[in-house]
Amino acid sequence: QSSVHRLTSGQVVIDLPTAVKELVENSLDAHATNIEVKFKNYGVEAFEVVDNGDGIDQENFEGIALKHHTSKLRTFSDLGSVATYGFRGEALSSLCGASSSVQVTTCTAATSPRATKLEYDMHGRIASLSKVAGTKGTSVLITRLFDGKLPVRRIDLIKNTKREFAKCISLLQAYGVIKIGVRIVVSNVLSSGKKTILFATKGNSSVGDNIINIFGTKARIDLLPISLAITIPRRASIYLPDIVPDEFAIKVVGFVSQPGPGLGRNAADRQLVYVNNRPCNLPSVIKVFNECYRTFNITQYPFVVADFEVPFDSVDVNVTPDKRTVFLHNETTILECLRERLSEFFESSGH
Ligand code: ADP
Ligand code: MG
Repeated sequence: QSSVHRLTSGQVVIDLPTAVKELVENSLDAHATNIEVKFKNYGVEAFEVVDNGDGIDQENFEGIALKHHTSKLRTFSDLGSVATYGFRGEALSSLCGASSSVQVTTCTAATSPRATKLEYDMHGRIASLSKVAGTKGTSVLITRLFDGKLPVRRIDLIKNTKREFAKCISLLQAYGVIKIGVRIVVSNVLSSGKKTILFATKGNSSVGDNIINIFGTKARIDLLPISLAITIPRRASIYLPDIVPDEFAIKVVGFVSQPGPGLGRNAADRQLVYVNNRPCNLPSVIKVFNECYRTFNITQYPFVVADFEVPFDSVDVNVTPDKRTVFLHNETTILECLRERLSEFFESSGH
């Protein structure tokens, strides 16, 4: 039983970045407007996500870290239109099976200023419970990820600490850029006590301001806002007989580097793609941006922030456990249209 749990845990929490991502998504799902992500020794010793969200109701204390416990999915039909990040109830349970210790401190509006501090064992059962002072919100502290549970991953994490940490920061930047009205502060503390702030957004009301907070004022000077409309014909399908052939509209909104000699920076590490505000791995989209941009700039990669606003029934997020890989229906058509719109856009912006 426990070794099976350990194995399945390793499938959801595959590495430090996914673990951190799951915690931040839980905070966002809980309507937090202030999220602090604190790494200890680049996440190797511990990481903690502190939010000012809804908090957890007492009736859920027993369940939250058990497998498949979720407070988010109400009915089966919700699956087609999940708007929350989490919906499978696997993150906390997996973290219990994959780390030295999982500690949750939480407080709802109703119980404030009294919070509850809970520790969960490796099976996701409550190991200790105590009352502490606190304000509305939740903090989840994970100590020594993979230690003693998944030793090979632990060694991997220690060996590739800087790389894993850099991945965490990129991922957190992706949320920091797209989340409007949410303040996100990311810091790291070394064993020596030295603290570094990696970035801090300010609860801005625009993506542009988030970009300035994260990448600096200079980034903004080179960026053009984009808003491209794409209409996709939806064909009849024998697999989805309920879907009547019609059209559906997609909008691609965000920012892209201004093309032109001397202007574009090499921003290969700043290419952020989203589907309905969800950061996603969509290399095919990045490729289109790069190729269009290269018509105007010989070797450079544009800074890209591109959010695909698509109808909920045309994406499938439930593909990999980390939900980063998504499938878009009619991807080929979408990419063709995007290429056309983008070329028009670059041409009309003075080139
Ligand atoms: P899921 O997000 O898929 O529901 P998780 O394992 O990530 O599953 O979380 C389990 C449950 O714990 C959530 O459904 C939610 O009720 C609660 N929870 C976890 N983190 C938070 C948080 N930061 N604020 C409020 N509730 C939380
Ligand atoms: Mg979750």
